[in-house]
Amino acid sequence: MHACSTGVFTMKEDGDKYGVIVCSDCRKAKIIDLTKDRKTTECHRCGQRLILKKMKIHYRADSREEASWAIGQINARMNGEKMPEEMNDEKEELDPYQLAAKEAEHGDDERERMLIIGRVLTRELGSFDRSDLEKVFKMTDMDVEKDMIEKFRNLDEIYEPEHGTFKSVEG
Ligand SMILES: [Zn+2]
Repeated sequence: MHACSTGVFTMKEDGDKYGVIVCSDCRKAKIIDLTKDRKTTECHRCGQRLILKKMKIHYRADSREEASWAIGQINARMNGEKMPEEMNDEKEELDPYQLAAKEAEHGDDERERMLIIGRVLTRELGSFDRSDLEKVFKMTDMDVEKDMIEKFRNLDEIYEPEHGTFKSVEG
């Protein structure tokens, strides 16, 4: 039984149709068919000829699907990337106002939160007006104040292409 160098998997003892190897040159993971008596295989990425006898089998699987899954896990780990399922796809479901409110949470003070809201609304909507701002403000703990528009006008990166319509230069 092989030890798993990635430390992620518990080696299965019954899986022996497919193996996952990692290219010694470029670290790309690859599925090999263990039922075929092949001596070498070529790395899809860098073309390195890999001698199977010398390769460590990082994962064994009975199905190609399972081997593919293992490759995804290994590649992600090697690249230091997040696993796809951990990625935040929440963003796509948020409307521009929710998105602006959410991103504004990262702002340190009111001015910064306003700048973030301006950038997000410009990015998502092209431009924005008072009613757009109110929708966002209602979702945050920021006050909808009378001078809110004045405050926005006074921000360096906010400009007003038409009266009452705003854009951020950073959007
Ligand atoms: Zn390679």
